[in-house]
Amino acid sequence: MAADIVSRADTGFENLWGLQDCAETIYEFASEEQKQRFIPRVCNGETMSMDLTEPDAGSDLQSVMLKATEQPDGTWRLNGVKRFITNGDADIHLVLARSEDGTKDGRGLSMFIYDKRDGGVDVRRIENKMGIKGSPTCELVYKNAKAELCGSRRLGLIKYVMALMNGARLGIAAQSVGVSERAYREALAYALDRKQFGKAIIEFPAVYEMLAVMKAKLDASRALLYETARFVDVYKIYEDIAKERSLTPEERKEMKEFSKKADACTPMVKGMGSEYCNQNAYDCIQIHGGSGFMKDYACERVYRDARITSIYEGTTQLQVVAAIRHVTTGTYLNMIREYQAQEVKPELMWLRDNLMAMTESYEKAVNTVTEVKDTAYVDFMARRLVEMAGNIIMGYLLLNDANSNDEFVRSAEVYNKMAQTEVAKHADFIANFKPEQQAIYKA
Ligand SMILES: Cc1cc2nc3c(=O)[nH]c(=O)nc-3n(C[C@H](O)[C@H](O)[C@H](O)COP(=O)(O)OP(=O)(O)OC[C@H]3O[C@@H](n4cnc5c(N)ncnc54)[C@H](O)[C@@H]3O)c2cc1C
Repeated sequence: MAADIVSRADTGFENLWGLQDCAETIYEFASEEQKQRFIPRVCNGETMSMDLTEPDAGSDLQSVMLKATEQPDGTWRLNGVKRFITNGDADIHLVLARSEDGTKDGRGLSMFIYDKRDGGVDVRRIENKMGIKGSPTCELVYKNAKAELCGSRRLGLIKYVMALMNGARLGIAAQSVGVSERAYREALAYALDRKQFGKAIIEFPAVYEMLAVMKAKLDASRALLYETARFVDVYKIYEDIAKERSLTPEERKEMKEFSKKADACTPMVKGMGSEYCNQNAYDCIQIHGGSGFMKDYACERVYRDARITSIYEGTTQLQVVAAIRHVTTGTYLNMIREYQAQEVKPELMWLRDNLMAMTESYEKAVNTVTEVKDTAYVDFMARRLVEMAGNIIMGYLLLNDANSNDEFVRSAEVYNKMAQTEVAKHADFIANFKPEQQAIYKA
């Protein structure tokens, strides 16, 4: 909620504090002594950064090459280059580095803590960006920089960075919701104020439809954000309890279930939420007409700031890569079945009927794709399948909101209509596609 609110006001500024959940990673994986040393510093306002990306290792973090060398005294030295690092001038850095000589994949990578007080890292460049200009994005040169191991060797990418990135992805999902909210507010205010043909432009169907869809996308992405945050909270609370006593079999089962749901919903909310944020920023400019293209209005900045949300912390395509297994293993379908069993007011039943019909189309589409038994084909259809699942899940979340609060009825209805069209479009594409037609698209 805090990330959402701050992003609305200034998206770049939001990146300075806690966006990436770096302190949480120290809390989860560092030694007790490291926690005592670093976490109070963060609480006192020192900044952190997450140093993963390199010139030749972006989406593919397994190819990280920054070299970590162990010293006789047990400390490490880091050498190499990191690029596109948010808060690159931070006080405390989490660094992904290759600790195992001769390895080439993720199993040779470990996570390190670098303390700026020790020196050894130069900010070689601050990027000149399209948006989030208040957030410094740096190229860093590590020159024999002293660092300490965080957690166990070889688990840097496989375990710690995966956890770190899940927190960061939830942060970007919240940032996306904040930017979406701003886009909607700017568009609504302008549409009420601007008059053409003798009336306020909000009275034209083309404009009020755009605004209603913007609001529906905004409410849908926020609903999925809160649901995902709830899943994360529950399983992390169990993890904390498990440090003090052993969990009962029921608690263990629930922890596993929530952890799986968090794993399924995090890439979905980051992927679809950031795309909705971009769409809302686009429509915000459209509603402003020519004025939207000028730098005089806030919407121009909103549009530039929105663009990064579907790129960093993993592009939308990489979110789909993470989400697709929850399509093929049935996590999403099981969640949908749970939502379906919830009670609905009679006047909202038509929304559930529509969602049930969409679920039927989704199941059919999943079967059509998986029956081919070709992973490349699943990859080709993955975005469509993940979006179908997302449309249905967000449709149910809004229905639940509408069921308990009239304020959400309009968004639940508008989103339902939109989701119906989206699901039908993807279902139609999949039903009328022959696997060999993939060749048409190949470069
Ligand atoms: C402003 C900003 C701040 C950033 N902050 C940080 C930070 O704090 N820490 C940090 O470590 N990094 C940071 N990054 C880096 C960011 O996470 C990467 O830019 C991003 O993950 C994409 O990597 P890349 O730029 O190398 O693109 P590439 O990986 O080269 O991707 C190019 C295109 O190929 C597609 N693609 C690549 N692989 C696949 C695949 N397997 N399947 C489908 N499509 C694929 C991508 O979706 C994309 O469309 C930041 C970047 C920016 C721009």
